[in-house]
Amino acid sequence: MSGYQTRQTAIAAVTNYTPTVKPLNFAETSPTQVFGTNVFCDKVMKNMLPKDVYKSLMATKKAGKEMDPAIAGPVAAAMKEWAISKGATHYTHVFYPLTGLTAEKHDGFLSPDGEGGAIAEFDAKLLIQGEPDASSFPSGGLRATFEARGYTAWDVTNPAYILENPNGTFLCIPTAFISWKGHALDKKTPLLRANQAINKAGRRFLELFGNDDGNMVVSNAGPEQEYFLLDRNFYFARPDLMVCGRTLFGAKPAKGQELDDHYFGAIPRRVLSFMLEVERELYKLGVPVKTRHNEVAPGQFEIAPVYEQSNLATDHNQMVMTTLKSVAKRHGMACLLHEKPFAGINGSGKHVNYSLSTETQGSLYSPGDTPAENMQFLAVTAATIRAVEKYGKLLRAVVASAGNDHRLGANEAPPAIISIFLGAELAEIFNQIEMGDLKGTESKGKLRVGVDTLPPLPMDSGDRNRTSPFAFTGNRFEFRAVGSNQSIAGAQVALNTIIAEALDYMCDEIEAITKGDASKLSEACQKVIQNIMKEHGHIIFNGDGYADAWQVEAEKRGLPNLKTTADALPALVEPEVIEVFEKYGVLSKDELYSRHEIYHEQYNQHIQTESALVVKIAKTIILPAAIRYQGELAGTAANLKAAGIDGVATPCLTEVTGLIGKMTDAVAALEAVMDKCDFANVEEEAVYKTKETLPAMLAVREVADAMEGMVADDLWPLPSYQEMLFIK
Ligand code: ADP
Ligand code: MG
Repeated sequence: MSGYQTRQTAIAAVTNYTPTVKPLNFAETSPTQVFGTNVFCDKVMKNMLPKDVYKSLMATKKAGKEMDPAIAGPVAAAMKEWAISKGATHYTHVFYPLTGLTAEKHDGFLSPDGEGGAIAEFDAKLLIQGEPDASSFPSGGLRATFEARGYTAWDVTNPAYILENPNGTFLCIPTAFISWKGHALDKKTPLLRANQAINKAGRRFLELFGNDDGNMVVSNAGPEQEYFLLDRNFYFARPDLMVCGRTLFGAKPAKGQELDDHYFGAIPRRVLSFMLEVERELYKLGVPVKTRHNEVAPGQFEIAPVYEQSNLATDHNQMVMTTLKSVAKRHGMACLLHEKPFAGINGSGKHVNYSLSTETQGSLYSPGDTPAENMQFLAVTAATIRAVEKYGKLLRAVVASAGNDHRLGANEAPPAIISIFLGAELAEIFNQIEMGDLKGTESKGKLRVGVDTLPPLPMDSGDRNRTSPFAFTGNRFEFRAVGSNQSIAGAQVALNTIIAEALDYMCDEIEAITKGDASKLSEACQKVIQNIMKEHGHIIFNGDGYADAWQVEAEKRGLPNLKTTADALPALVEPEVIEVFEKYGVLSKDELYSRHEIYHEQYNQHIQTESALVVKIAKTIILPAAIRYQGELAGTAANLKAAGIDGVATPCLTEVTGLIGKMTDAVAALEAVMDKCDFANVEEEAVYKTKETLPAMLAVREVADAMEGMVADDLWPLPSYQEMLFIK
């Protein structure tokens, strides 16, 4: 049961750890030389493809032109040649099913030539379409088992790449995954559709301001990925970590994160060595990794690339997650992406920095030096305010998961209430517009540091607010409620769709006032923004999102506070959500219902697995330890009594016996809760699991954690928080 390790052998192994990782030779290949070497990038394509094919492909990629199927043949031929020159023997269509994972189906290039030999085969047909067995992936009722067909379709807009393995390499082709009726079965298809929607609405919006120059409006994402590392020996001694990715048991360590000394402390050597290798692997794949640092909790770290266009950023984030996990193994560690691996310790999120931009204008969220005069910026920001308020429940639903429930609202992560932080200067400007009196604010100055030898620093238009789920940070919004384990696609699909709708709304309203008279534009904008502020302005909150007072205040404002996944997921199929998704062709009603079903199922299965494991660990690992200790105490107590000594063994025995009784009762109670299985539907089951199963699991844990503070340390079978988080 306890994996391959006991706590004692794990501790011994960790204590004797010596690095076996072969050092990378940085002198031979610098990061700039390595960057993108495994990517079938634009430069490679330009060299290898016929001119007209390359041009046509770029028109699809850069300007969103409809793809010409005729390019697939030459592209497939070039791709094959390039991949084989890199040692590839196989190719795989990579896709992103609704499980949130990255899926691959490998096929060999080699085909028998009929004369006893083999030839490498890969053509347009194989590039454009694959057919994995869709029945192994959730469809949420979109297809019956007898119609198991699902197709992967080549995503021309993201580059193919090579993945390396010590024993060979293979070509990976990014694809969308759809049912034979054309329903989206994955995370990429709606993202591509939502990108199309935001481009269309964005271009219309820019045109209104005379700024449409023919370039696409794209959404961008810069995901800051948090994660935990621990020694692999401990990981294998914790079945809960192995199976569920989080500890289901574990008493609070004496030294937690109270001292706050981990954040920005020196990165431990072993971890740094791991990070350097992760970065190198990601450079090869063309992922522009930029920052690395320690996070708040001990054993917690962050990696962030430079932001990229949504679709690419999403594929890259999936690569970041897989790379973190695989490289950690090579360094004798395990990487945990769960949102809350350790109770009572800071959780992991993924801050998704989001913006809209064009190649020529940069971020549409850039206020410039005088935001009050930048009407286009104010309008796009107002549209965002409207969208986030109107569809706040949807934004909460797309970050809902069993893991994220432990994090949101847990005092170190944004609360489950969706609100917007604008910063003092912008809040003031929008306030003025709401009052019908836009006069602007004092322009940003220089920050005087008070030391003559230090340079004056340019001042930002607002301070940072780390407690807001959706914060304006200078030229973008930071959506901080996304879970560390989640695909970033869902958040972007929702944002692009609802902001497209808000931009169209603004255009309609503004045009109704100006009636084509450009001189009335500024006045019309202010009027429309004023209305938006009156209707949706209560979503703006610049205060402390962690404070209890905010919960009360938010309720007064009528902002939803959806604390759990079971509370949040129903928003996916609310009439106005279906309407906006259908209007923009991003997800149909059926597709939304299928997601609604699948995400509920995932939640239910998750809790089911966790609760079964709580029972098993309690019965087969924790109780036996306590019973052994009880036996030891009973023997000692009897001996002492016989010798006429009044020792502490007897009271200890009483206490341990009491805890054993409590544990037995708590486990029985949990089993009784778990027995129920006659649910009318997945939603009812999710509510039940939230309200009944989780508290019953917690009751078992509470007794177990008390035992951990009581049972002799040499008998305690599970590595402690202290050990897992601090031994390096
Ligand atoms: P923080 O100080 O919030 O921790 P980081 O430097 O760790 O910031 O990460 C910020 C992320 O935001 C990076 O991925 C960065 O590339 C991204 N970013 C910067 N500008 C934009 C933008 N205009 N749109 C989207 N993301 C952006
Ligand atoms: Mg950061």
